[in-house]
Amino acid sequence: MNRTDGFQLFVCEPVEKVEAGGLNGGGPLKVTTKHHPAREYDAVVLTTPTWATQMNLDLRFPPNAVSTKVMHSMRSSHWINSCKVFFPLKRRFWDGSGFPSVVLTDTFIQDVYIYAADKNDPGVLLASYTWEDNAMKMLGFDSDVILAQSCLRKLDEIFERSMITDTDDKPIRISDYVDPRHEPIVVQWAKKPSYAGCAKLYRRNNESENNDLLTFNREHKACRLYFAGEAYSLEGGWIEPATRTALDAVLHIIHDHGGVLAQGLDIGDYERLTDTSYLTGMNLPRRGE
Ligand SMILES: Cc1cc2nc3c(=O)[nH]c(=O)nc-3n(C[C@H](O)[C@H](O)[C@H](O)COP(=O)(O)OP(=O)(O)OC[C@H]3O[C@@H](n4cnc5c(N)ncnc54)[C@H](O)[C@@H]3O)c2cc1C
Repeated sequence: MNRTDGFQLFVCEPVEKVEAGGLNGGGPLKVTTKHHPAREYDAVVLTTPTWATQMNLDLRFPPNAVSTKVMHSMRSSHWINSCKVFFPLKRRFWDGSGFPSVVLTDTFIQDVYIYAADKNDPGVLLASYTWEDNAMKMLGFDSDVILAQSCLRKLDEIFERSMITDTDDKPIRISDYVDPRHEPIVVQWAKKPSYAGCAKLYRRNNESENNDLLTFNREHKACRLYFAGEAYSLEGGWIEPATRTALDAVLHIIHDHGGVLAQGLDIGDYERLTDTSYLTGMNLPRRGE
């Protein structure tokens, strides 16, 4: 909630800076976006992927408001890449053929998906869906078109060897079905500045860093900054843990700002149920130690 102008919703608006209020970070937070000067807010929920945050967002908080441990944990979290290569089709190659909607290969194209919205839709081919190491192999191509053509060639080769036939019993050559009027679409999450990766995964010895982010909302109440989403949860790559930290942020904001939780919900019970302080006694190793 903007303190001076009432409720305002900005969408598709890159945030450039979030600043602590006052020297000790206890005042209203200042948020500066690409097209708007700094405005003051009672609370800010940060949902940006941590690597994108490091690259594009200036977080200015004194160490007594957001500890250096937490800042370090954001920077050193482990993200992987993913790549998808799509081709719009001029007609479907799978009608009536019992063709599987997902094909897994042991080639560099990894997974193949087909999809059509309804019976009139010519369909779309996800010629390659890769992640982690396999997605790294997709980064070195000079252009998206060269990468996409390379995936299509590999798919034709796989189909030729598999001797999969269409309803007229003719061998299927996937490239014959691709709509030449449209460019292929390639999505590389590592190349998107506002993501810088597709999923946050565990890395050996980063339990402490993960825990610093997971427990931030309960341990940094005074700074009015809250974390929500996959980047601050565990088991990255899935919506469920992202949703859990979103609920965690909402519960803490309501509680910290004097709100009343729904009947039957008690912040004390919630914090006891989700307590991970026992991990502190275990002296979990930190990366680099
Ligand atoms: C290829 C792929 C496949 C997946 N498959 C599945 C699946 O099958 N099942 C499943 O449960 N989950 C899946 N996921 C994971 C799921 O998409 C994520 O867990 C979920 O989207 C996380 O939501 P979030 O709100 O935390 O973050 P995001 O959805 O990543 O949202 C973060 C937002 O922050 C924005 N942002 C970044 N920097 C700034 C800035 N400076 N200013 C303003 N905005 C900014 C970004 O543009 C983005 O919109 C998949 C993810 C990927 C990438």
